[in-house]
Amino acid sequence: MTTTSHPIVAFIGLGHMGGPMAANLVKAGFPVQVFDLVPAALEAAAAAGAKVAASAIEAVKGAQVVVSMLPASRHVEGLYLGEDGLLAQIEAGALVIDSSTIAPASARKVAQAAAARGLAMIDAPVSGGTAGAAAGTLTFIVGGEAEALERARPVLSAMGKNIFHMGGAGAGQVAKLCNNMALGVIMAATGEAIALGVAHGLDPAALSQMMAVSTSRSWATEVCNPWPGVLPNAPASRGYEGGFGNDLMLKDLGLAAEAALGTGASIPLGELARNLYSMNSQAGRGALDFSSVVNLVRKA
Ligand code: NAD
Repeated sequence: MTTTSHPIVAFIGLGHMGGPMAANLVKAGFPVQVFDLVPAALEAAAAAGAKVAASAIEAVKGAQVVVSMLPASRHVEGLYLGEDGLLAQIEAGALVIDSSTIAPASARKVAQAAAARGLAMIDAPVSGGTAGAAAGTLTFIVGGEAEALERARPVLSAMGKNIFHMGGAGAGQVAKLCNNMALGVIMAATGEAIALGVAHGLDPAALSQMMAVSTSRSWATEVCNPWPGVLPNAPASRGYEGGFGNDLMLKDLGLAAEAALGTGASIPLGELARNLYSMNSQAGRGALDFSSVVNLVRKA
């Protein structure tokens, strides 16, 4: 049944991101064997044409490529490592792709364990959110051997449109954290600037339009403006529903802080931003879009 261009892919973790990513692999013609702990996620994947497995171990049987999309480091280490871990079950010569956003140290640990078993592994966290996952336009930010990335390329291309190779194992995770740390800082700073303008009677839309073509121009002014009513399609204009959750940003800033420890890197703004998103979570906005952080300083 298997062809060279369409190896069997095992896909573990069918949440907000993994579900639509696995569906895009099916659409591209890959035979996909899936597993998740949540029955509803398995039903949705079956409806999309994937073959549902009773366990992760069953899902990787016969698979030449294994993709995982799990919440955090502990889930990824828990899945792959240890005597009962998946690395001991994956077919010899198979390629492992972990697309979860996890600590670079965890990614290196799992990649080393994979290498010890003779399995190639790349970390390939993504940018682009649930909309990018559904549309198949994700950006993959990859760490690992160039040869492993070349083997992964047809699979990644079925789920995304940009692929960046950042270096060896863990480098994809480091780069992803750098991007999200800068984004978290820029969003909080943009919200603060607009709040200052509004406190002086400025129109937030006029101020944002000026900023969007001036030196503070960013994704936060142009696409995901944090002020309600400025951009009709931004989460801020629909009660901060949808988008990229505050608590996911908080998680990524925590990973950035962890990654800074022990390297001598100073991230004063990243740490400040982490505290702001933590305060925003404590104010009850953890599940809302991260641009809701502006509410910490917004009076109107
Ligand atoms: P999610 O919580 O919706 O999905 C995770 C899935 O993994 C769940 O369905 C869960 O049941 C499953 N799972 C957990 N442990 C498992 C195990 N041992 N075996 C099988 N399944 C298991 O999370 P998500 O939003 O899809 O995010 C996944 C990853 O992608 C996270 O690391 C997140 O930080 C990252 N990410 C998310 C977004 C986003 O916008 N949601 C954007 C970029 C990156």
